[in-house]
Amino acid sequence: MSSAHPAEGTEPADRDGSAAPSGTVAGPEGGESACWLDRVCPRCDAVADGPPPARCPRCGAELRG
Ligand SMILES: [Zn+2]
Repeated sequence: MSSAHPAEGTEPADRDGSAAPSGTVAGPEGGESACWLDRVCPRCDAVADGPPPARCPRCGAELRG
């Protein structure tokens, strides 16, 4: 029987946080849950892919913030 458990101390040193490409940069999503309400199409209630000004992916209506 061989245990696949890695012993402590065998992890790479870049786990210290110095190798983070964009760790502090938070994405547009994951914030307030109400922010996506601006993306809801007033005509068909579809949700646009991005924040306004955007276009409804379903009916093509213009979404204004
Ligand atoms: Zn729409």
